[in-house]
This record gives sequence, structure tokens and C-alpha cells, in this order.
Amino acid sequence: MINLQNLMDEINSLNENVTLVAVSKNVSSTEVKALYAQGQRVFGENRVQELAKKCSELGEFTDIKWHMIGRLQNNKINQLLSLRPALWQSCDSFERASEVNKRLNFTLDTLLQINSANEDSKQGVSYENASEIYMRIKEQCKNINLKGVMSIGAHSDDEREVQKSFELSYKIFENLRAHGAQICSMGMSSDFRLAIKCGSNMIRLGSLLYI
Ligand SMILES: *Cc1c(COP(=O)(O)O)cnc(C)c1O
Repeated sequence: MINLQNLMDEINSLNENVTLVAVSKNVSSTEVKALYAQGQRVFGENRVQELAKKCSELGEFTDIKWHMIGRLQNNKINQLLSLRPALWQSCDSFERASEVNKRLNFTLDTLLQINSANEDSKQGVSYENASEIYMRIKEQCKNINLKGVMSIGAHSDDEREVQKSFELSYKIFENLRAHGAQICSMGMSSDFRLAIKCGSNMIRLGSLLYI
């Protein structure tokens, strides 16, 4: 298990205003508790089933903020909403936003996921359509409170490719700031330093935390 203070010192040396989301998708509630004991409060899961399990096992830790970071199937929407996540990071289309909006009886903080590397394997709206879809969701889905964007860096060994994908997502974020965007969520274990240099203010780290 990582020493969280050392990691936060490094992160804050790159940018003081970065939120760390501890991704717990591949570990058990035991590891979540260990990070919680070190002060971590924001955690991310990519499957509703696993999120439900962790929420139930960790129910006593009422100040944990859970983020949903993975693909959301329509048949899992109700279950997700019953868990009241603090942030839905992976809104991947206008249609998905509409489906969630219909079922919401509270306001859900949400990020629009951008597939800026244009990879078939990834969810999210295209770079070209991102701003328009963001505005459409804002106007038509009143229970969805858009707070910014989320993106996964290009899957490449070429750092320039990864950087390019981060820069594209950041550009969208910059343009949407005038419309209230505050969060630019990008960067994982392998590329979070680069993501922060490109303007990220929320990183999602998994594997790195548990070695
Ligand atoms: C798993 C996952 C992460 C964390 O990935 P690591 O490489 O383990 O840091 C971040 N974001 C999303 C959307 C994920 O699915």
C-alpha cells in the first residue's frame, strides 16, 4: 500500500488543486479502509454491482464520496441512482444522459466523458461533438448537473500521442468553463503527471496505490 502523504506531496508539487480519486475496482473493502485510514475520502468504481457491494460493506464510512467511472448500462441506472454517487464521471452520450435524467428525482453531479483519442475501445463522445452535446445536456436534462469533462488518455507508448489526447480534452474543458465547467478529470497511474501538466484537476489512480 502506498504512503498517501508522499503521493499527495508529489501531486501537489505539480498542481495544488488536484483531487485524487482512489480507484478501488480491483481491490477489496480492506484496501479501501486502509486508504481511508490515511485520509482518503474520494473513491471510484467502474461497475455498479461492485459499487453496491462496497457501499454496503463500507456503509459506516458515511463521508466517503463514491464516483462512478465506468460504462453505465441502461439496466443498471436505477441501481446506481439508489446508491447516490457523489459524481457520475462517465456520461458517454446525450441518450445516456436522457435515460438517467428521466429516472432522477435529485440532481446528479456529472462529467461528460470525451473519447479524445477516438478509440473504438473507449466510451465517450467524440472531440468534435463534445461541446455541442455538453450544451444540449445542460439545456435538456435538468436533473443532470454537468460539472466538467472526463477523459482517458490515448492508449499508446508514444507520450506525444497521450499528450495530444489530453490537450484536446483540456481545450474542450477550457471552452466550457464559460458554461460552468469546473472539473477536468484525466490521468491514471501511468500518465497522471503528464495529465496534470496538461491541465487536469482530477486524477483517477488505481494500480499505483496498491503496490
Ligand atoms: C481503472 C480505471 C482507472 C485507474 O486505472 P489505473 O491504471 O489502475 O490507475 C482510471 N479511470 C478509469 C475510467 C478506470 O476504469
